Amino acid sequence: GVALRVRDLQVTYPGADAPALRGVDLEVAPGEFVAVVGPSGGGKSTLLAVLMGFVPPSGGSVLLGGVPLKHVDLAAWRRRVAWVGQTPGLPERTVGANVALGAPGAPQEAIRAALDRAGAADLDAGREVGDESEGLSDGERRRVGLARALLRLSHGGASLLILDEPTAGLDPDTERRVLAALRAGDPTTSALVVTHRPAVVAACDRTVTVGLMETVR
Ligand code: ADP
Ligand code: ADP
Repeated sequence: GVALRVRDLQVTYPGADAPALRGVDLEVAPGEFVAVVGPSGGGKSTLLAVLMGFVPPSGGSVLLGGVPLKHVDLAAWRRRVAWVGQTPGLPERTVGANVALGAPGAPQEAIRAALDRAGAADLDAGREVGDESEGLSDGERRRVGLARALLRLSHGGASLLILDEPTAGLDPDTERRVLAALRAGDPTTSALVVTHRPAVVAACDRTVTVGLMETVR
């Protein structure tokens, strides 16, 4: 089976004279974790932005669980994808309220479980996240963002996880725990992980390169 199928994906940003992506082909099986690597400017963020439903493809096709991107509205598409960006946007509310955004209405135990799996077992769900200058540390903010995405997978109906440098800013011990927890999740969850870190690449099943050649395999 195939969870995600990308065929001949092309993206040209409005006003740009060269495509950001040209002819990307990619298949991800259910449960497979794929590391996405490549040179800066090669199109990794653009690929993720298409899969997150933020950038429309200029050509080619994207299917998730057999459903084509162009046949659903973007809000519906986004519910099927869980993602964590480099700097997770956390509204100034409690840790638990931020995690709950991943799947509104999910029970408290599920929020706690998502935090534990994200390597944030020591974080109090009732604590205020604060703003970027005071409150949670960068590493803690990332783990709250990760927990929000994990809740979207466990209780929000998402089946694809998209991560951008998920362990940046974590010490090697926490990195190991977070990676192990991610891999121990639902065996049908597929993931695309943009990373430069060897430990993260090693935790994935295979690696694809975006940007060196014009086609990903
Ligand atoms: P990477 O994530 O691998 O560094 P990007 O996807 O950010 O690559 O960039 C691919 C190409 O698209 C680059 O030439 C970059 O300048 C361009 N690009 C990225 N985002 C935008 C944007 N929002 N508008 C216009 N051009 C962009
Ligand atoms: P909005 O449409 O304003 O993004 P949402 O309810 O979709 O509102 O999102 C609420 C919060 O959840 C936002 O802070 C956003 O960062 C986060 N979020 C939205 N979509 C996703 C997603 N697919 N995966 C993980 N987090 C998401």
